[in-house]
Amino acid sequence: MGKANRIAALILAALMLAGSPVQAQSDLPELGDAAGVDLSLRTERRIGQEIMDEIRQREPSYLDDPEIEAYLNQLGGRLVAASPEPGLGFYFFPLQDPMINAFAMFGGYVGVNSGLILAVQNESELAGVLAHEISHVTQRHLARILEKQKQVSTASLLAMAAALLAARSNADLAGAAMTSATAGAAQAQLGFSRDFEREADRVGFQILEKAGFDVRSMSTFFARLQRATRSYENNAPVYLRTHPLNVERISDMQNREVELPYRQVPDSMDFHLVRAKLQAMRGTPVEAESHFRTLLQEQKAAPVWAAQYGLAVALARQKNWRDAEQVLAEVRGKRALSPMIERLYAESRIHRGDVSGGLAVLKEALGRFPNASALVYSYAELLLQAGRLEEAQRFLDAQVQRTSQDDRLYLLQAKVHAARGRFAQQHRALAEAYLLRGQLPAAIEQLEIAQKVKGTDFYELSAIDARLRQLKRRQQDEAKDK
Ligand SMILES: [Zn+2]
Repeated sequence: MGKANRIAALILAALMLAGSPVQAQSDLPELGDAAGVDLSLRTERRIGQEIMDEIRQREPSYLDDPEIEAYLNQLGGRLVAASPEPGLGFYFFPLQDPMINAFAMFGGYVGVNSGLILAVQNESELAGVLAHEISHVTQRHLARILEKQKQVSTASLLAMAAALLAARSNADLAGAAMTSATAGAAQAQLGFSRDFEREADRVGFQILEKAGFDVRSMSTFFARLQRATRSYENNAPVYLRTHPLNVERISDMQNREVELPYRQVPDSMDFHLVRAKLQAMRGTPVEAESHFRTLLQEQKAAPVWAAQYGLAVALARQKNWRDAEQVLAEVRGKRALSPMIERLYAESRIHRGDVSGGLAVLKEALGRFPNASALVYSYAELLLQAGRLEEAQRFLDAQVQRTSQDDRLYLLQAKVHAARGRFAQQHRALAEAYLLRGQLPAAIEQLEIAQKVKGTDFYELSAIDARLRQLKRRQQDEAKDK
């Protein structure tokens, strides 16, 4: 049972809950009649956020890794900027799943399986798949499918939603129930039509070209996928099922390429490091270590520093910090630095007992890569662990000033406030984190808890009151939308 089906089921279940009588007890957004809905972008975004939240909390393959996530958003962001809708908000997230797959959901949420990242042969191929998914969103294919979904029986979708609710805590069970309850319904809905596929290919191609990637990578990857399904140990079928490939599609791609000059596009450093990290997270830590040692011994590693980084990740998984530090010191000695290498190097030093040395490495890396969010989180965590609470708070406040859209920052802020006994501030920070995850009622609840904390000073209290009024007004507006 593939994760794609499970998530597909979640999407449909969320939609159905939205338009069904179940709505009464649920705080999911209402869509009106499920058939013939016209999804406004705002509603789409809200549904996407709900599903994303569901995935974060209940999908076992969801990969909570800020470094891999940051890489996907950097690559994806570059492609979105070259798309017909550069202003549309997108959010890319990784899943630890060997199936070769990527999928777009409502509101610009795009899931990318580790299996895809490891199966591509260069960064342009990965960009090609993402550009295709981005195009499904910019061309609003999902919404257009739903507008036409009258032929799907509401009863079967409701059965699915019920099955999902019944088996909520057990994703595998939910998945199994889904397949039997709905048979082909979810499949038929989520596989895009040929026309949509062709449009996504065409728009994706333009995005790829404009963003400066090798446009030939698209047909190369798809053709390889189709030809060599077996060599991917049968990990390809999901993608091929939701994105039916045929000779026509591939020759369309090739016809477009002919007109363009050949372009050699080097892979980014992060591309190699992310792949090495994903590879190092596979199997047991010992297996991962021997994989990279063999690569390095047989001199098959291209590039060598990425394999060394992968080896260090595998060593870190075994808590062999001494060897990890040594390998990373070697990489740092010969290669331009990367935030991923610096972070693991700092972590290794700290685990070896050199806290101030590790913090110094992170601080210097932050100076060089101020936008590397994983460095920010690590630095704040370490200050917290070292008991340097005021410093941690000042640091996080400054980060929130820079970017107020990062839920992880607020969660860290809440931790630091809690450690300092500032409970009103803790709940206020939690409210912001929940809000960014689309949980408006939970955010309001946190502010109400914050209001009741005794001994809070006047200024803090008025800030809490003001924010609470704002959120309650937003809740009323959303209720009116329905
Ligand atoms: Zn597609």
